[in-house]
Amino acid sequence: MAWSWKWRNPSILLEGAERFERVEIPVYCSTGGPLFKTLLSSGCRMDCRYCPFARGVRAQREAWRRDKLVRVFLEAYRRGLVRGLFLSSGLYGDPERVSLDIVEVAEELRRRGYRGYIHLRLMPGTPLWLVREALRLADRVGLNLEAPGPGFFAEIAPSKGGWSLDLLSRLLYAARVARNPRRVDTQLVLGASGESDMDVIMLVEYLAGSGVGRVHFSPYTPVPGTPLASVRSRPTPLWRSRQLYEAETLIRDYGFRARDFEPLTDDEGNIPPSSLPLKKRLALAHPEWFPVDPETASMHELLRVPGIGPKRARMIIEARSRGELDLAKLRRILGPGWRAAQRFLDLGSISHSALASYMHTGSW
Ligand code: SF4
Repeated sequence: MAWSWKWRNPSILLEGAERFERVEIPVYCSTGGPLFKTLLSSGCRMDCRYCPFARGVRAQREAWRRDKLVRVFLEAYRRGLVRGLFLSSGLYGDPERVSLDIVEVAEELRRRGYRGYIHLRLMPGTPLWLVREALRLADRVGLNLEAPGPGFFAEIAPSKGGWSLDLLSRLLYAARVARNPRRVDTQLVLGASGESDMDVIMLVEYLAGSGVGRVHFSPYTPVPGTPLASVRSRPTPLWRSRQLYEAETLIRDYGFRARDFEPLTDDEGNIPPSSLPLKKRLALAHPEWFPVDPETASMHELLRVPGIGPKRARMIIEARSRGELDLAKLRRILGPGWRAAQRFLDLGSISHSALASYMHTGSW
C-alpha cells in the first residue's frame, strides 16, 4: 500500500476493559470523502515481485483483530473522521479463509446497524458463493487483476494464482451478479510487468463491455528489497496513469474503441505524453470523423467532438428533438466547450435554420 499526501493518521482513544488505548486511524482522502482504508493483515504468503508485503521482504507486519477493527472503525465513523470503509488484506492463509475474514468484518458492521459505505477487496480464487456474499453486504467489491493479461501477471505475481481462472473469471462473475458497473472495480499495477498502453487499453475495453466499472491504475514504484526493484528501477511516471485514466473514461463513458487509440501510439504501443487532452489528440488523429453536424449526428458522433461530454450531447439531442436547436442555443449548451468544439462541427444547416428564424422573427 503506497503512502502519500492523501493519507492522514488521526488517532482516537479507545476505552478497553482495563486501560485506555490510543489507536491511529488510517484515513485515505478519496474523491468521495475520507475512507478508513486498511489491510486486515499485512502478512502474506505470496511473492508478488513488486510488493512491500510479499513473503521474504523485510517489513513491519501488522494485523487487525476483527472485533477491534469493527470497534475502531465504528468509533471513527461516529466521530465523522471517515465516511466509509475500504478493506483488503495480504494473503496470510488460503484465499477462501482470507476473503471470508474480510466479508465477516462487513457482516459484523451491518449486524451492528452500520448502513454506510463499504468497499471490499477479494482475494484471487475466492469461491463464487463468497463473491455473492460480499456483494450482498458491500456497496462495492473489487478484485485486483494487477496486470493486463496472464503472461504479464505470471511475470510479476508467480504464486498468486491463475490470471484467467482465479482473477478475471471472479471479477466477471461479480459484474454479472452486481448488474451495476459502479459496484465492481479492479486495479492494475501500472508499469510493473512491461505492458504497453495498448495492452491496458484493450483490457479496459473488454472489461467495460463486460459490466466491470472503474479500472484503477496504481503506478509502479520500486520498493527496496523487492525482487522487481533491481530489474525495474524507475517508477512509472504519473502522467502515464493520468493519460490512461483519460483513455479509460473515453472508453467507458464516451464509447471510444480501443482501436481508435492506435494512431496515437509509438512502435511499442505506448502513447507519448502531450500537453493536449487525449480526446483532442484523438480528434486530430481521426479527421475522417469530422465535421459533425449537430442537427443530425448520433450520440456517439457528438461524443467524439472535443468540448462535448455526455451531458451536453444529451442536451443537444433533446433540444433538437423539440425543434429548438439553433446557433445561439448550441453555444449556450456548449458554454466553455464551444471554443474546443467549433472547428469540429458542421454548422451549415444550423446556421441556415438560425437565418431562417431571423427572417421569420426579425431577431436573433
Ligand atoms: S498477494 Fe501479492 S500484492 Fe497482495 S499483499 Fe501478498 S504479495 Fe502483496
